[in-house]
Amino acid sequence: MVECERYGEIFNLRAQNFRLQKKRPALILAEKSGSKVLPTPPGYSIGRDENHYFSHMLNCLYDCRYCFLQGMYQSAHYVLFVNWEDFEEEIDESRRVASEASCYFSGYDCDSLAMDSITGFAGHFIPFFTDRQESWLELRTKSLNTKILEQHDPVPNIITAYTLTPEPIAKEVGHGAPQYRKRLDRVKSLTRQGWLVGLRLDPLVPWPGFADLYQEMIREVFSAVEADRIHSVTLGAMRFPKAMHERIVKLYPEDPLFALQEMSVREGQMSYRPEIETELVETIHRELSQYLPESRIFRQSS
Ligand code: SF4
Repeated sequence: MVECERYGEIFNLRAQNFRLQKKRPALILAEKSGSKVLPTPPGYSIGRDENHYFSHMLNCLYDCRYCFLQGMYQSAHYVLFVNWEDFEEEIDESRRVASEASCYFSGYDCDSLAMDSITGFAGHFIPFFTDRQESWLELRTKSLNTKILEQHDPVPNIITAYTLTPEPIAKEVGHGAPQYRKRLDRVKSLTRQGWLVGLRLDPLVPWPGFADLYQEMIREVFSAVEADRIHSVTLGAMRFPKAMHERIVKLYPEDPLFALQEMSVREGQMSYRPEIETELVETIHRELSQYLPESRIFRQSS
């Protein structure tokens, strides 16, 4: 173990080799100073007007090629913040000043559950949110690491949200993440146990045969899972801030994800042509509408 004064001394060093570090990342335990609970960008919602996120970790065990974490930090090391009581205090403070009950997103800068067997994050925050039933907690994940949820009775204000991508696409872009089919099994078992599960179809990944692949996946999901156990579905196009996109393309210049369609700058973000984006989102929205009311389908614009 190496001790240091501030985690940024290691994490924020310039000229680090992200790809090499990603092969063997170190785990940095740190105290989070400054703001711990922040408002989400506008348009980031699963049904509440007040939305916040908090990050107990920076970086992820997996390596999805569309993930903004590849371009967000200088380093691929994991940072685990350990002063969770300070996070809880800020969550309570944000609840106190909010005009209405809020949703808290925990998987903004990491996967909420991927490293849970080491961090114990979910085991700590499930009881905390159980006592605050008017506030929602979203645990966003691709992980099969759901033992802690299986050991608990379902908590109605805690939503485990699985990111799903059709199998052929997931195989190409979801490096290191559990296979689509295993994730779907986990969605099935958690919903059967009584947990509410969210489905996250953002980003929608443009791919040859896109519409058929996504429609088939949606049919499969809803033939396997009771729709009334699905809390919400989010849809969002693939977008990157320009500088982040440049950094990711530099890391993976030959990745098919960036070669399939031309991206250009729109509203300060790298995105696909508006007509392609609209077609992707509307095709999938139509398919979802056959299974869920509009009030549970959300288009994410950020
Ligand atoms: S699981 Fe989520 S956080 Fe982790 S690499 Fe993939 S997209 Fe990023």
